[in-house]
Amino acid sequence: MKPTKMSSAEEITAEVSEGIQQDLLTWYDTAKRDLPWRQNQDPYRIWVSEIMLQQTRVDTVIPYFENFLSQFPTLEALASASDGEVVKAWEGLGYYSRVRNLHTAVKEVMAEYGGVVPQELPAISKLKGVGPYTAGAILSIAYNKSIPAVDGNVMRVFTRLFALYDDIAKVSTRKKIEQLVAQVIPSERAGDFNQAVMELGAMICTPSSPQCLLCPVQAYCRGFAHNVERDLPVKKKAKPPVHVSVVMVWLTRGDQILIEKRPDTGLLAGMWGLPTIERQEGEVAEATLARALSEWGLEAVISGVKGQFEHVFSHRRWMSTVVAATPQVEQSYPSRWMWVTKERLLEYAYPKVYQKAFQVMGINRK
Ligand code: SF4
Repeated sequence: MKPTKMSSAEEITAEVSEGIQQDLLTWYDTAKRDLPWRQNQDPYRIWVSEIMLQQTRVDTVIPYFENFLSQFPTLEALASASDGEVVKAWEGLGYYSRVRNLHTAVKEVMAEYGGVVPQELPAISKLKGVGPYTAGAILSIAYNKSIPAVDGNVMRVFTRLFALYDDIAKVSTRKKIEQLVAQVIPSERAGDFNQAVMELGAMICTPSSPQCLLCPVQAYCRGFAHNVERDLPVKKKAKPPVHVSVVMVWLTRGDQILIEKRPDTGLLAGMWGLPTIERQEGEVAEATLARALSEWGLEAVISGVKGQFEHVFSHRRWMSTVVAATPQVEQSYPSRWMWVTKERLLEYAYPKVYQKAFQVMGINRK
């Protein structure tokens, strides 16, 4: 039988709250993974790890985190690095606005807070890219403040624990869960508690196969008691990605290749790539390039399609065709374009979609 909905006003009893705290923390003390950002409570390290972990798995993040911290071991080092160096160190992790926001925010911490990550919620929440989850994670883990840090793992665990059928895609549900976490989070070990819930979500209360028999908080779990844990959380399906056909231009001149710095806003903002044009309905790829060359006022001989591939972003799916062309005359090019030799091509930072285009052209990162 489906349990009744819990209202946002419902309170967790002190007995349940203390039981969850104790059992979860005891489990965390022995079961927690030894992760590089758990070596100390440096707020800068925790900040970097939390930004990297958004949308990205722990296993993927570990080598990036270690490399990033060896290049930029302190907040000062990151603040004084160039945009190009910072984006290059992030290359391959995707969602590049994360690192741009982080870079902007650490510069602000240097300028406004003397290089010390703010310890108060209103101040830290004003930093670029620091949303409610990241603010809660930094303040609780680095400064042991009793502030919830509700990410996808925490939402899954809490909707199951309290048998909540609210749609977790809604902001109101996250707020409701924050209120519940606030009732359970212990003041003496706030950071460990937040991490313990996340760890439980990652290791035991996993999306498709929760291991309830091994779960330290099974005794308090309404989802388990009503045998509905696999129905939770409820999440309304996101819209499927929009299909867009694009042509990527492989323009060469001797041993040089033309690359483009993408616009400062929008998809893949400010990243290097190949000039990319949307194909019109029913248009063959060579015709798309011919149309674009004419719009750009450029002359080039189109030598043909070199390959095709797909790439899925969060809201878009690019069906990409790489088309090669060679300019025949001296001419001036758009200001965001740059010729680079084949040897130096990979010195710049490219999002995955353009690395795939390079693979089509036989150029692979070693
Ligand atoms: Fe998740 Fe099962 Fe533990 Fe409940 S008992 S919190 S559903 S693993």
